[in-house]
Amino acid sequence: MSSRPKPVTPDLANLARGVCAGERAVIARAITLVESRRTDHQKAARRLVQELLPATGRAVRVGITGVPGVGKSTTIDALGTFLTAQGRKVAVLAVDPSSARTGGSILADKTRMPRLANDSNAFVRPSPSSGTLGGVAAKTRESMLICEAAGYDVVLVETIGTGQSETMVADMTDFFLVLMLPGAGDELQGLKKGVVEIADMIAINKADGDNLKRATAAAAEYRAALHILNPRSPTWSPPVVTYSALKGDGIAALWDGVLDHRERTTQSGELAARRREQQVKWMWAMLEDRVFARLRSDSSLKAKLPRIEAAVAEGRMTPALAVEEIAAALGV
Ligand code: GDP
Repeated sequence: MSSRPKPVTPDLANLARGVCAGERAVIARAITLVESRRTDHQKAARRLVQELLPATGRAVRVGITGVPGVGKSTTIDALGTFLTAQGRKVAVLAVDPSSARTGGSILADKTRMPRLANDSNAFVRPSPSSGTLGGVAAKTRESMLICEAAGYDVVLVETIGTGQSETMVADMTDFFLVLMLPGAGDELQGLKKGVVEIADMIAINKADGDNLKRATAAAAEYRAALHILNPRSPTWSPPVVTYSALKGDGIAALWDGVLDHRERTTQSGELAARRREQQVKWMWAMLEDRVFARLRSDSSLKAKLPRIEAAVAEGRMTPALAVEEIAAALGV
């Protein structure tokens, strides 16, 4: 008796059609496919994203970072609704490094963005919650492509202030927005951590009420600090602005900055170059992840690695020879 094999992968043509038609339920399913750890799902997701690729790339991609409490969700809610009121379609995604450890996501939670969550022109999706930070970020990047194919023309990618996740979000966006609190002091530490070096704009939130003066003072300090850094771009010096997400003051000016940056970097060719570099970087990052996954799952290597590591630690084997031995075992 012959039985037909059960379809193990979802109907990709229908998924692609539904995504391009902007059907929310289908977009959510497509992202779930991208986030799945099942090998067959991952294979299907790769084909889906490849198929959608021609419909991607037209969105304004903005990364947003800041320490917890700085006002990221309030800002995204305010900026997002400002944009949807202009007829834009806004997707909100996140890279939350803690979600990989705890399995729970604290970012892009719908309840944190009440107005946007109920806005038919907005799509809010929490951070993928499993895998390595690199894996989580790669999935967010593919989800971003799905949202673009679905017609979202602004993608906001949120992350919290940890160096590694910030770099990854900066590496998938056109504009990297760093939110700060009034009262510089501690926040100037950000300079040391390098986040300011990758900022396209520093925006000091909560410039309202009693905080107004302190916000202005902090802005002056950041301007002075930025002045001594080498600019990343010949056509763009990252501005320092103050605003209030709660009151909405300065949200329009903040967005003007994003558009100004876009216009200049489009004309200079820097935007296209940034995206080209990002794409290649992601290829290598994903390849690295895969090779490492292979390394960790290879049973014969697993048995050898502690011995090799101990020999290197105790100075009995050079790191170079150790790499040679591991690479030989991997066949690379
Ligand atoms: P997140 O952790 O970075 O997402 O920060 P939230 O958006 O949750 O904001 C943290 C707290 O700061 C909340 O109590 C907000 O109401 C408050 N907050 C956010 N934006 C502003 C602002 O512009 N002005 C003032 N005064 N408070 C704000």
